Amino acid sequence: MARVGTINTPHGPIQTPAFIPVGTKATVKSVLPEAMKELGSQALLSNAYHLYLQPGSDVLDEAGGLAKFMNWQGPTFTDSGGFQVLSLGVGFKKVLAMDAQTFRRDDVIAGNKDRLAHVDDEGVTFKSHLDGSMHRFTPEVSMQVQHQIGADIMFAFDECTTLHNTRPYQELAMDRTYAWAIRCLDEHKRLTEERIGKPYQALFGVIQGAQYEDLRKKAATDLGTLQSNGQSFDGFGIGGALDKGQLGTIVSWVNEILPEDKPRHLLGIGAPEDLFVGVENGCDTFDCVLASRIARTSAVYTMEGRFNLSNSRFKRDFTPIDSQCDCYTCTHYTRAYMHHVFRGKEIISATLATIHNERFIVRLVDQMRQALMDGNFADMKADFLGRYAHRSGQSRD
Ligand SMILES: [Zn+2]
Repeated sequence: MARVGTINTPHGPIQTPAFIPVGTKATVKSVLPEAMKELGSQALLSNAYHLYLQPGSDVLDEAGGLAKFMNWQGPTFTDSGGFQVLSLGVGFKKVLAMDAQTFRRDDVIAGNKDRLAHVDDEGVTFKSHLDGSMHRFTPEVSMQVQHQIGADIMFAFDECTTLHNTRPYQELAMDRTYAWAIRCLDEHKRLTEERIGKPYQALFGVIQGAQYEDLRKKAATDLGTLQSNGQSFDGFGIGGALDKGQLGTIVSWVNEILPEDKPRHLLGIGAPEDLFVGVENGCDTFDCVLASRIARTSAVYTMEGRFNLSNSRFKRDFTPIDSQCDCYTCTHYTRAYMHHVFRGKEIISATLATIHNERFIVRLVDQMRQALMDGNFADMKADFLGRYAHRSGQSRD
């Protein structure tokens, strides 16, 4: 199901498959936009929830939109905020991919005393993680916020469940997500007409359904064909609870049904082995905070697997982080220097490690695209995973 394509946006094209680095609050932490461009990033993804709270989506609107505000000359995405708002509700685990084998009861989630969000059929009421103030997101508010932020690609507001929820709750959440999808399309159409003269912002629907085949297929069928007042989704995000062991299966259920001529984004997935699974099952774009988040803790991806630069074995290692990497960090610095700046808590440690990790992941997906065009994806995958998995067992801390 793997495919090569181009997504055209008002800020330029994205050659797919592509990895989209995350700049949650309109910045990829510690890295200049020029450096992101140089390492091959074609687009950046920010978060509507965070930008709504600070500085406020009206500020971005006044600034001329997200790309201009953050000095990024290229395409941008915004996530709807549904995941962030609802993960406040879950309160105890802020990750998409979770272990399906652990307890699965709605009351564990609902009974959490620290929960900061309450969902009803109309929307979500939540408490700001910044100052405790109360806010309400509805599909309409999410569309208004994302139109003000002005990214080229936006996501519909959905109810994001976890693998801990029961099957009846997953069904309820999916019905709600469908009702919200219609409201998002209507409000998106209204805002597009109202904000005449602004570049068209594409809206992607989000496919939920957790680990259930019938629910995933129903969501793909319903949202894939949905039209409201002549408006349909421009693409799709595959979201929600994704059991990593079943990632390929879940994604293929959905992509076999979604319209072939529209882009598909796999939300929150970015580990090397998962990217292969996503690409071969027909996903076009990916985003994940992991590459930059782990970089700031000195963890780097290499062909020898993932390791920590602060480990003392690198004190006198004058080789690059990854001898096969062409990034700015690997062509100018050694592991010994990286070890030194991490141990000394120097700010440049985050910058250099993030540049390397983002380059590693962006380039890996670029290589998948090239392999698809050359007709040797299977060989490229076997070669990469053979070396990556083989060595990672040996050099992990
Ligand atoms: Zn590098």
